[in-house]
Amino acid sequence: MRAAILAIGSELLGTERLDTNSLRLTAALDRHGVELRKKSVVGDSEAELAAEVRALLGRVDLLLVTGGLGPTADDVTREAVAAALGRGLHLDPEVSAALEARFRAFVRRMPEVNRRQAQVIDGAVVLPNAHGTAPGLRIDTRWEEREATIFLFPGVPHELEGMIADALEPWLAERSAGTARSSVTLKISGLPESEVEERIAPAYEEFGRESITILAGGGEIKLIATAAGPEGERTARLAVMADRLALLAGDAVYTRNADDTLEQVVGELLRQAKATLATAESCTGGLLAERLTRIAGSSDYFPGGVVTYSNAEKSRLLGVPPELLAEHGAVSEPVARAMAEGARRSFSTDYGIGITGVAGPGGGSEEKPVGTIHVAVAGPGGRVAHRRFRFPGGRERVRWFASQLALEILRRLLLDVSRPAGSTADPGQVAKAVESLWR
Ligand code: AMP
Ligand code: MG
Repeated sequence: MRAAILAIGSELLGTERLDTNSLRLTAALDRHGVELRKKSVVGDSEAELAAEVRALLGRVDLLLVTGGLGPTADDVTREAVAAALGRGLHLDPEVSAALEARFRAFVRRMPEVNRRQAQVIDGAVVLPNAHGTAPGLRIDTRWEEREATIFLFPGVPHELEGMIADALEPWLAERSAGTARSSVTLKISGLPESEVEERIAPAYEEFGRESITILAGGGEIKLIATAAGPEGERTARLAVMADRLALLAGDAVYTRNADDTLEQVVGELLRQAKATLATAESCTGGLLAERLTRIAGSSDYFPGGVVTYSNAEKSRLLGVPPELLAEHGAVSEPVARAMAEGARRSFSTDYGIGITGVAGPGGGSEEKPVGTIHVAVAGPGGRVAHRRFRFPGGRERVRWFASQLALEILRRLLLDVSRPAGSTADPGQVAKAVESLWR
């Protein structure tokens, strides 16, 4: 079964309101393995709506419409769908009586405009609305030699939710025979989208181009694999897909759980390694410490960090030699290294992270343009890993990317020390990769 969703309301075309109803409808379709082919948003125009209904009916078997069932003149869904199907409308006495009863129950007289909500498209099944006045409608029809079903639902989000549960889910369940759609998400950091794409290309061939999605944002990549089918079969297929993608993408994959964050995974690795971490931040102003402490219980491995924004404080609190600052400038590899070592020493931890950079928008130079970041991680045995990077974007993005890079370097270093559960990485390869990071 192929489905489309049509969200109706001129406010949804403006800048004030977002169509969130379609997300609820999509989740219901997923639960029953129905493939969503298209979503449309149309304003309260009868002609536009009728045209869109006709266009969508040519492409799908199931059309879910939300909005425009209210009592006011701008609610024209009933009329538009009737026109699209070439059907009439009639006043349904039962719906009308139910509306009046609902108003009586709230000790109110029914305004005459509400009578419109008792208009029913000829041949439609009325779907009671337990949470509001406008009932929904279901229309079974033939369109271009095929059977098609249209559901009309109210736009008020909580009314829609009620009707998804009461009317849509049971109807879908009867047809899906235990089939559902679900997905697994692999999260990747430290690789650009194009490189992830290159690495996983064989999986497109093996599982089908449309079953895998790559989403980039916030300095990380999500690889989403989707499968439809009965529970057992589907979970098995998703596991095979996830294993294959993880193998192809390598140890850049930091989790197979969509809800995990990088700071959470790094925290878990520190815990497993029984190691501790301290931070010294300049341009990120504490963002890294903030992220680390989002995780409850992080005091087990993160005693603290410092924000040293001025050169003087870099020297006073972290022991960065003033000559180093004078010679190389605050945004430099030697200073990042000295900050990381200073953090490790001051807090007596196993690891120390130093971040210094030019977040912008001002302060850049030819040699050190805006977006230049130095991240250093000092570790056991006096070794220090360092990476210089230049990130695009505004101040907030640069700061976020810097914190992301710091977490990612530490994660990679820790892979050698604490082997994550379920890791398929070759220990020899991991050790080699980590060795090259320390250099
Ligand atoms: P309606 O049923 O079109 O009169 O919509 C009633 C209320 O629900 C209005 O406040 C709309 O903004 C809201 N609404 C309608 N459609 C949607 C939608 N697709 N997503 C979120 N809210 C909606
Ligand atoms: Mg509306």
